[in-house]
Amino acid sequence: MSEQKSRLAIIVPCFNEELVVKTTTERLLEVLDDIISKGKISEDSYVYLIDDGSKDRTWEIINALREKYGERIKGTKFIRNYGNQKALIAGLLGVKEIGCDCVVSIDADLQQDENAIETFVDEFHKGADIVSGIRNDRKTDSFFKKYTALCFYKLMNILGVKIPPNHSDFRLVSKRGLEILSQYPEEGLFLRGFFHEIGLKTAYVHFNVKPRALGSSKFNVFSLTSLALNGITAFSIVPLRIIAAFGVLTMLCSFLLALEVVIEKYILHTTPGGWATLVILLAFFGGLQIFCLGIIGEYLGQIFNEVKSRPRYIKEIELK
Ligand code: UDP
Ligand code: MG
Repeated sequence: MSEQKSRLAIIVPCFNEELVVKTTTERLLEVLDDIISKGKISEDSYVYLIDDGSKDRTWEIINALREKYGERIKGTKFIRNYGNQKALIAGLLGVKEIGCDCVVSIDADLQQDENAIETFVDEFHKGADIVSGIRNDRKTDSFFKKYTALCFYKLMNILGVKIPPNHSDFRLVSKRGLEILSQYPEEGLFLRGFFHEIGLKTAYVHFNVKPRALGSSKFNVFSLTSLALNGITAFSIVPLRIIAAFGVLTMLCSFLLALEVVIEKYILHTTPGGWATLVILLAFFGGLQIFCLGIIGEYLGQIFNEVKSRPRYIKEIELK
């Protein structure tokens, strides 16, 4: 294995992470040193930090780290907050430009087990282009997050996107994976779906999740919902087909209802009754129609965002 001295980059998205960015970066440098000393990666391996428009001292700290550790620390700062997916994409494309053989993405709070990075590298050397970190459990997640996440993966599976549950953005991507990523201009790329879909050789490594040491989660109900909706609309058109199927089904039901009315009037000679039926049906189908329009609207929004072809993000500064 020692003849394969790959250059490893570790990318870390940071949004208002002044409390943890220093300790995390220093810990990651230790991890790099350890893997370097075992001869598995080259000495010019580095950490690349993406400041996702932080309002606190995160960028200042990144600059100080750069001064202290030189070119082992690289990074970029967005002009505003674009969200964790875009920060990750910027990291992946940033290290592709700078140069690396493989890249690992990890959160700034080091909730993912950084010791697993060495196993990721081993899997990469065995020939995997993607090494996906799978959480052993969701003990550190809130009740709400745990169940909504599980529902999301179940739904994605039903919709045909077979991402393993408890998947995370803690993963290794080879240079080949980065080449493919750079050919996808999609604005709203959902990385978990993307790396699953391209079909490169993938290995799975299980890891333990730690509680967040300092600071608080940067996600809220709205950002998580938006991430989930984006994930669905970017990878599956099954919801649109379900709407069409609903249409056919309700048409069939209305034929049956019409038949009932005819039988009541001409065979049973009773007056077709049903104010209550009418109101219930009206309310039900009114709701169903708006719900379906909402789904179509989600896709429309996705198309709208894509056709504008605006840049995914704007970097204010980059330390190469
Ligand atoms: N993050 C980001 N931009 C955002 C939100 C989060 O870059 O708009 C980063 C954050 O700094 C962290 C990672 O994404 O490195 C995961 O965020 P967090 O730990 O808050 O999420 P959780 O662990 O609660 O899912
Ligand atoms: Mg976290």
